[in-house]
Amino acid sequence: MLWLAFGPFHAMENQVLVIRIKIPNSGAVDWTVHSGPQLLFRDVLDVIGQVLPEATTTAFEYEDEDGDRITVRSDEEMKAMLSYYYSTVMEQQVNGQLTEPLQIFPRACKPPGERNIHGLKVNTRAGPSQHSSPAVSDSLPSNSLKKSSAELKKILANGQMNEQDIRYRDTLGHGNGGTVYKAYHVPSGKILAVKVILLDITLELQKQIMSELEILYKCDSSYIIGFYGAFFVENRISICTEFMDGGSLDVYRKIPEHVLGRIAVAVVKGLTYLWSLKILHRDVKPSNMLVNTRGQVKLCDFGVSTQLVNSIAKTYVGTNAYMAPERISGEQYGIHSDVWSLGISFMELALGRFPYPQPLQLLQCIVDEGHPFIMQFNDGNAAVVSMWVCRELEERRSQQGPL
Ligand code: ATP
Ligand code: MG
Repeated sequence: MLWLAFGPFHAMENQVLVIRIKIPNSGAVDWTVHSGPQLLFRDVLDVIGQVLPEATTTAFEYEDEDGDRITVRSDEEMKAMLSYYYSTVMEQQVNGQLTEPLQIFPRACKPPGERNIHGLKVNTRAGPSQHSSPAVSDSLPSNSLKKSSAELKKILANGQMNEQDIRYRDTLGHGNGGTVYKAYHVPSGKILAVKVILLDITLELQKQIMSELEILYKCDSSYIIGFYGAFFVENRISICTEFMDGGSLDVYRKIPEHVLGRIAVAVVKGLTYLWSLKILHRDVKPSNMLVNTRGQVKLCDFGVSTQLVNSIAKTYVGTNAYMAPERISGEQYGIHSDVWSLGISFMELALGRFPYPQPLQLLQCIVDEGHPFIMQFNDGNAAVVSMWVCRELEERRSQQGPL
């Protein structure tokens, strides 16, 4: 118990601590501290004050292993953060991994604007810790920033996202096209979801896919998954996106109406946004609706790259039960086809089960019969309607009284 409380601090006492101060939308400043365990909350705020002089910072956040942000406002919370950080460092060392800097995110900061962060200097102050000059490191392109096409090309050509910077952790799931991993992006310290898809295609097609994916940098909606970059290594493409700690909706049980209503509104807003960019989703289903513990709902896996969709389709086995009848029949796909899939998805989420019968009869059933509601009442039973009309009229007459 005693070791748990004090062990990591003592074990790390002589080690240099690197604190990476993230600057909203501009990068990060690395601050080397030689006596990390004695560091006080005030010291950190002072350094943040020098890094972001025009902002009033009262607190900062750090990310736990699930990518959730935890706020630090006191020495007590600062200790908890250091203790957490040192325990992860020990784990990294046991696993033979490189020690990652401690990332912090200043709160209540104004954006640094035009300031040249590359010229930044943090002065060493007398105090419990010794600071060395910070180094500026690159950060991920923020998906809230709109970028020019030339800028985007540069990002992609520079391979801003690359295999060397990524440490794969857990497998989040397998789909028909590939496997999704939870991963750590070393330069930015961000947790990502990386979808890896095997594609045996020519270099020419690889280039085409990369250029088609560029539009993702321009997607700027809180209802669409954040896109950080993509790259090819040999015959596989890795697509790096924001990690959602709640996963996809397909693994949840029947969702109560007051929650599902809010989820539905978010999904509809996400789709409306895509449609406004002339992008059809083409794969609306619960496993492509992601949630996080902040209550956000975001769409993923939409078909921005025709070439990618076609390449995956070549190796695709099985049927997509959420497909609209016109799609199954090979007719033209349109917004209404996305709406169909949306309806089927939400019926499933509301009922807690897929609304159609078993797979074998499924396709025929969707094309021939339509909605289960139609199937249930497709008996031509006019007597039911007749009785209802008669009853209603009778009631109305009795309310009006004798003429
Ligand atoms: P299909 O390949 O038929 O579209 P799918 O959507 O289930 O099926 P993938 O897109 O490969 O397959 O995703 C696999 C699983 O990974 C998803 O079901 C989801 O649980 C998880 N996942 C995908 N993206 C993320 C993400 N950004 N954050 C967290 N989990 C994710
Ligand atoms: Mg998916």
